[in-house]
Amino acid sequence: MKPVELSERNTLFTEKMGEFYDLNLGLIRGARRNYLIDTGLGSGSIAPVTEYLRGDGKPVVVINTHCHWDHVWGNFLFEGGTIISHRRCYELMEEHWDEMAEENKTAVDGEMRKCFPNLTFEGGLYFPDDGVRIFFTPGHSEDGISVYDGVDKVLYAGDNIGDTAEEIVPYIDTDIETFRRTIEIYKTYDFNICVSGHNKPQGRDILSRMENALEESWKKQIAQFGMPGEN
Ligand SMILES: [Zn+2]
Repeated sequence: MKPVELSERNTLFTEKMGEFYDLNLGLIRGARRNYLIDTGLGSGSIAPVTEYLRGDGKPVVVINTHCHWDHVWGNFLFEGGTIISHRRCYELMEEHWDEMAEENKTAVDGEMRKCFPNLTFEGGLYFPDDGVRIFFTPGHSEDGISVYDGVDKVLYAGDNIGDTAEEIVPYIDTDIETFRRTIEIYKTYDFNICVSGHNKPQGRDILSRMENALEESWKKQIAQFGMPGEN
């Protein structure tokens, strides 16, 4: 699919992942550096990005939103540069890379080689000269981070948004309270566009829509099973 320019300096690269899902990589073209958010399924995912950046001499900083295989398999193409993740993401990748690669090997797009992040953090990172912030947002996974372009007001939430139009709340591998806290963190950022790993770009209302969906599923559970601790 063709790259979609979301704003002056934000571009979305989307490819099909199986029959039902899209896979998104995001690009922020900062004043000093380019920031690539996730590296997809291998060299095939990265080719359109390289093509798009042809002639742009700025360094590319890669950011892995979390350790899942469909977000990191193109890392090796940036081996000599900076690849950022949360500390926990690095640990989980070290632990699970081989089994994730084996289980999902038919999904590789082009070539893939093992390559871990080389700059990890806890809490947050800020690139003031580019107006880019990276911060810890566990929920979908325990190692999740998000990226905010404060110049164009675009938020990259990784897989903290569900994968499709019908399923806006993601699979939550932590717990509901952790996920709710991450929604509260997102509320403190002034964004107009929210990009995620698999869904279409969303507006700011995605936060209240996710909260409503969580509330609905909670009510359904109570109707079905009663209040916790009631029986
Ligand atoms: Zn994921």
